[in-house]
Amino acid sequence: MKVTKFGGSSLANAFQIQKVCDIVLSDPDRRVVVVSAPGKRTKDDTKVTDLLIDVAKARIAGGDYKKPLGIVLERFREIAEELDIVDVLPSIEEAITKVVEATITDTVLYTDSVKAMGEDSSARVVAAYLNSTGHKAVYCNPKEAGLLIEHNDAGKGVVLDESYDHLSKLVKDNETLYIFPGFYGYNKAGQIITFSRGGSDITGSILAGALCAEVYENWTDVDNVYAVNPSLVSNPFPIREITYDEMRELAYAGFTVLHEDALFPVYVRGIPVNIKNTNNPKAKGTWIVSKRTHYDSLITGIAGEKGFVTITINKYLMNQQVGFLFNVMRIFMEEGVSIEHIPSGIDTVTVIVRKKYFTPEVQEVICNRILKELGATDIKVERDLAIVMIVGEAMANSVGIMARAASALSNAGINLRIVNQGASEISMMFGVAESYCSYAVKVLYKELFRY
Ligand code: ASP
Repeated sequence: MKVTKFGGSSLANAFQIQKVCDIVLSDPDRRVVVVSAPGKRTKDDTKVTDLLIDVAKARIAGGDYKKPLGIVLERFREIAEELDIVDVLPSIEEAITKVVEATITDTVLYTDSVKAMGEDSSARVVAAYLNSTGHKAVYCNPKEAGLLIEHNDAGKGVVLDESYDHLSKLVKDNETLYIFPGFYGYNKAGQIITFSRGGSDITGSILAGALCAEVYENWTDVDNVYAVNPSLVSNPFPIREITYDEMRELAYAGFTVLHEDALFPVYVRGIPVNIKNTNNPKAKGTWIVSKRTHYDSLITGIAGEKGFVTITINKYLMNQQVGFLFNVMRIFMEEGVSIEHIPSGIDTVTVIVRKKYFTPEVQEVICNRILKELGATDIKVERDLAIVMIVGEAMANSVGIMARAASALSNAGINLRIVNQGASEISMMFGVAESYCSYAVKVLYKELFRY
């Protein structure tokens, strides 16, 4: 069985929804279908989820929520009319109105419940359309199916383990197609909780895991994932196959294909993911697998991300002092800042963190503590670091990549602040000034993909 998830652009209008249903029906193994809310129809359009967020914000603020609500209802009306399934509209309007008009006791929970209505309505539309064309399809309610989600301490929606057991019982017969709304589930108190944005990917992955699917298909609007951000180079090299580990490394430097929490449920069960294009179903797409079967290129991908800070701590005879590093890490932990990397010298250690967690206020507290409590000689903070990653399992068996990469960057006049290669040799990391981030990615791509 395949679990098949379609993103917002695949459900943006009636025409796209027909394509989705054709794709589902063209393969009898596609039994469980996870849908996003309708996305943008044109570049300047607004996603239904964004409209719903406007509805929730306006209602919370006591403003005019009926205007964005009207636009949402109109979008579903238009889709239903074009698909000739207007009978589905009362159930959609009733479900949306019920959550929007509910008494607000908690603004976070209220917003989650309103946000979820895009996916909920998409699932009702797809099930109704399949039924209207003579196929047996059911809309699945995540509450009845047992998809349990709770907010963690940071306020992020995370799935509860028992959901897997509940969801493993979703498919009851071989003739029915199960249409499941992505992005949301329920907490134990029966309230709607959403994942973070783009979270329908997570729903699909959880279902693939729970049902031990043969593959998790993730349908979007590109033929492949590319080796580098396509806005940086023309005709980038397509990635046909990539491992979960390579994907994780690239995602770390901002390479987003799936939601970052969507890989784990399939990764632990070894279920391959196939990224496919709804607008070109014949294209083979990109496979994310646990073990590669072949390598099309030495390097799998290159990515760069801004937004890092380096905190360089100096202390004379640091290397002779037992526990210095431990105490530095303890201070970061006590101030709630997650450490990304710690390259170190003999009398210096550099801590790399993400800027969004290291605000100027946090910086002041941490630096003072390190100076006072650990007797550091001095601390230098640079708030403009970008991380550039070169990723590829095939690199492990090849000599000279680091030399080529470093000399290409130096010939381009890019100063390397940090260089790091893990022992696994699956990736190399360079720290450069933020202003050089995209340029460094382009230079490395030119060097390493033109051999
Ligand atoms: N509709 C939600 C969003 O726009 C979730 C998703 O599409 O995956 O973030």
